[in-house]
Amino acid sequence: MSRPVIFAIPHPDDETLGAGVAIAEHVAAGRDVHVLLMTRGTSSGALDKVNGAVWSPWWGAPHSPAVEGYQPLTAAEMGAARLREFRAALGCLGVSADRLHFAWDLLGVEPLDTQVTVAQARAAIVALHGKVMADNPASGNCGLWAPSHTVDDNPDHRAIGQASWDLYKDDPVTWADRRYWVLPPYWSDDRLAQVPGRMWDTPTDAQIGNRVKNACRAYAAWAPAEGLFAFGYHSVSAMFALMDGSGTGTPKCLIHK
Ligand SMILES: [Zn+2]
Repeated sequence: MSRPVIFAIPHPDDETLGAGVAIAEHVAAGRDVHVLLMTRGTSSGALDKVNGAVWSPWWGAPHSPAVEGYQPLTAAEMGAARLREFRAALGCLGVSADRLHFAWDLLGVEPLDTQVTVAQARAAIVALHGKVMADNPASGNCGLWAPSHTVDDNPDHRAIGQASWDLYKDDPVTWADRRYWVLPPYWSDDRLAQVPGRMWDTPTDAQIGNRVKNACRAYAAWAPAEGLFAFGYHSVSAMFALMDGSGTGTPKCLIHK
C-alpha cells in the first residue's frame, strides 16, 4: 500500500472548500487517503434558513417546509443530512466510504457538535493514525493535513490545526509531513506573513478541477424526500462560488507548512 495521508476536517464542506484540490490530487497519485471528520457541523445557522425561520440569501426565496414537503429539521437530522452531503462530496473527490472516519466513533462518544477542543482533535488524530499505520506497517510515515491554526478565526478549525502542530512539536519524526490549508476568506489575510512555506495548489489536470466542482454539487443538492437539504450552500455559498466554477477562478488551495 502506498504511503498514507490523513486529512483532518472540522465540519462537512471544509474538505472541499479548503483542501478539495489536494485530496483529489493525493487520490490521483495513488496515495492511501483517509479523511477524518471531527463534527457534524450542526451549529451552523443554516438550520434556521432551511427551516424557514431566517432568510437565505443563496436561496433567495422564503423556505416553507410544509409547502416544500418536509418537517422542520432538528439539529440531529441536520447532522445526518450534512453527513450525506459530506459522503457524496468525498466520493466525487475519489475517496470511498471505507476511507471516511468519524472522530466520535474513534473516541467512543456522542457526535461532536459543540466546540472541538485541541485535546479531542489530537486524540482522534492519534487514534486514526494508529489504525492506519497498523494496516500499512511498511509504508513509512503518514502525512497529516489540517486547517491553519494561524490564519483562521473559527475555534474548531484552529483547535484541529493546533493539535497537528502540537503533535509535531512533541514528535517531529512521526509528524514530519504536515500541511495546513487556508480557507478562501483568509486568502489575503495579514496573518499569512506569519506562516512558512506558503504555496498555491492548483489542479494538475482538468479532471482534478472537475472533481472539486462536482464535490461542490453535493453541497447544493436539494431533494427533501431523499434527506438532502443543501446545507453547504445555505451555509457558505460565497465560498463555494470560488470553487464550483460559477465565478471567475478555478478551484485551488492555499496551503502552508
Ligand atoms: Zn468549518
